[in-house]
Amino acid sequence: MEIGFIENIDKKSKPNQNQLGFGQHFTDYMFEMDYIDGEGWVNPTIKPYAPISLDPSAMVFHYGQSVFEGLKAYRTKDDRVLLFRPEKNIERLNKSNARMCIPEIDKELILKAISELVKVDKDWIPNQKGTSLYIRPFVFATDYYVGVRQSHNYKFLIILSPVGAYYSEGFNPVKIFIEQQYVRAVKGGVGEAKTAGNYAASIKAQSEAKEKGFSQVLWLDGAEHKYIEEVGAMNIFIMIGEEILTPELTGSILDGVTRRSTIELLRASGYQVTERKITIDEIIEAQFNGRLKEVFGTGTAAVISPVGEMWFEGQKILINGGEVGNVSQKLYDQLTGIQTGDVEDEFGWTIDISK
Ligand SMILES: *Cc1c(COP(=O)(O)O)cnc(C)c1O
Repeated sequence: MEIGFIENIDKKSKPNQNQLGFGQHFTDYMFEMDYIDGEGWVNPTIKPYAPISLDPSAMVFHYGQSVFEGLKAYRTKDDRVLLFRPEKNIERLNKSNARMCIPEIDKELILKAISELVKVDKDWIPNQKGTSLYIRPFVFATDYYVGVRQSHNYKFLIILSPVGAYYSEGFNPVKIFIEQQYVRAVKGGVGEAKTAGNYAASIKAQSEAKEKGFSQVLWLDGAEHKYIEEVGAMNIFIMIGEEILTPELTGSILDGVTRRSTIELLRASGYQVTERKITIDEIIEAQFNGRLKEVFGTGTAAVISPVGEMWFEGQKILINGGEVGNVSQKLYDQLTGIQTGDVEDEFGWTIDISK
């Protein structure tokens, strides 16, 4: 399918690269496509970034039938543009769509839309260390109807945002709160879909933790509050002795692209990585026995986020003296190196869209 193009004759000035922050600036263009009942996905178009107009009865506002993705484009030193494993995000977008009863979108068309959009906004891709162009595809229900059922019409948009390093304080270990009251997801629910409601459901716990001085919450499983699941909107890894553990995908955990890449990178470097259920008790015990070496989160936004302290029932679990561990540092360097083209991509994870 051909993608239409409407030129933007009123381009914005670009933000200062040193003060990008995350998700605050948007580029000159966006991609938009409609799903029309009886016709399917039609009118894919790259057009000027602008507000969209919807009737107040649009179903997404009332019942939250909405999914999204997040990936990044990186500018290399020799001015090429790389995407990191976009096919994984595209597959996951369609898995989220399936779970939320949203019609599937052609995979090739999504990749073409992302690539062409990034190309028209190429001047917006920052080049300083730690910066990138964040890509946010999202889909939502647009029937003008109040009543619970699946929508018959949808919109698929892609917007772009130049972003700086995720943590303004730099690559420093974060302090996390182990959440025992609120839960994020349960088996049989929508935890493995990247759907808007999961984040709405997490805000209260997140804001209470922030007030107490924590940067993230560590979610425990919804049924027994015993097994660790994720940290904020990141997957989590724990190094105990020489083994690196991460929770297995049970249906309530998001299948992260950074998680998958981390497992593959660690195994290729000779580490033993195990995906299984991990109790909070065994982490406490490992720390007591001096075997808890490192804890880190993984996700597109922060890539690797080392954890320095975890608090459980008023007790501090200190990790690696609160310092960035060797494995976390190495992983961060390797992953960001591959993503930006500074480290050879032995795995064939990046695609060059500047050609
Ligand atoms: C997006 C997300 C992640 C990380 O996935 P990546 O593909 O690595 O960015 C982890 N957990 C949740 C809940 C998420 O929404």
